[in-house]
Amino acid sequence: MFDFLSTTLSRRQPEQQSGETNQLMWQWLEEGVLLLEPILLEAMHLETQSVANRDVQDQPLDSVLLSVGVHGNETAPIEILNRIVSDLMSGDLTLKVRLLVMIGNIDAMIKGERYLELDLNRLFSNQQFSGQHAKFTDCAETQRAKQLEGIVSSFFDQAENGRRFHFDMHTAIRGSHHQRFALLPYKESTTGQAQGVYSRTMFDWLGSAGIDAVVVNQAPSGTFSYFSSHYCLADSCTLELGKAKPFGENDLNQFEGINLGVRNMISQGMPLNHDESNTSCVKVYQVTQQLTKLTEDFQLNFNDEVKNFTSFQYGEVLAQDGKVTYQVEQPQEWVLFPNAKVRPGLRAGLMLVQVNKETLF
Ligand SMILES: [Zn+2]
Repeated sequence: MFDFLSTTLSRRQPEQQSGETNQLMWQWLEEGVLLLEPILLEAMHLETQSVANRDVQDQPLDSVLLSVGVHGNETAPIEILNRIVSDLMSGDLTLKVRLLVMIGNIDAMIKGERYLELDLNRLFSNQQFSGQHAKFTDCAETQRAKQLEGIVSSFFDQAENGRRFHFDMHTAIRGSHHQRFALLPYKESTTGQAQGVYSRTMFDWLGSAGIDAVVVNQAPSGTFSYFSSHYCLADSCTLELGKAKPFGENDLNQFEGINLGVRNMISQGMPLNHDESNTSCVKVYQVTQQLTKLTEDFQLNFNDEVKNFTSFQYGEVLAQDGKVTYQVEQPQEWVLFPNAKVRPGLRAGLMLVQVNKETLF
């Protein structure tokens, strides 16, 4: 049996590209992309008339996409996912969902970089620019975005009636007042409300997996999770799970919550019933303003070391860009991903407000 990570790192195709264990069928779809399906699924198709299988048919399998390494230097989730794949292959972990696992930016991962030419997590198609990658000069990353989109679309097309989930797992460089948090992509409203409705099941699961906070985006973006949410109708999120470190230097104990959460989800499927017992401490934020770097004069008005989710009070100046001043417009705002070193025209930070979690559903 091949090792998913070392095979991907070696840039060689595995000798065998598909196979079967006692419980699952696996298929190497592309470099760093593996599809795993429980054998039960095939039995369901063959025995659709069987009364004994009726329970199974009533609950179609969930389809789950787990992506890691979209930023190549964020290694802890890659190591965690690789162990999960090994345990599935050996039969130590049961598979009860259709599972697609992928390592995003392999070239960057090999070099230990976030990305080489362009940030892969800005290149996915979105509603504003259909085929976002078409706007950028062709490079390995635009091609990878296009390739992953195709694979993900056909994976979810084949999901039939089951629920669809996508967890894109990252780690951050900057310190954070919330160690682990989720970013929910913008969702169009279909009911005239200000925003679309998010999955309560996913929110409950995030709480049970040790996520401290959830941030709701207010606009389409070129992220992987926006793509799968908007185009594949998956319940998706980007997970920020702790500090980014090189391979071998991660303290995987710090990732135990998400590791166990993912293992439970894979081996039992997502819960069917609402259970908010783990979500009482989860804070919910939404984006209230973006700090856009307009010119090279852009300067943040705070220390470079400031942590994510540091709060600012009404009127405080956040950044200066020539004659443009960004300041806090709400009684209190929290900063996320401040970075003055981006190219002009790009996002140099987000400001958040806290909202009641019930506004999500
Ligand atoms: Zn990342």
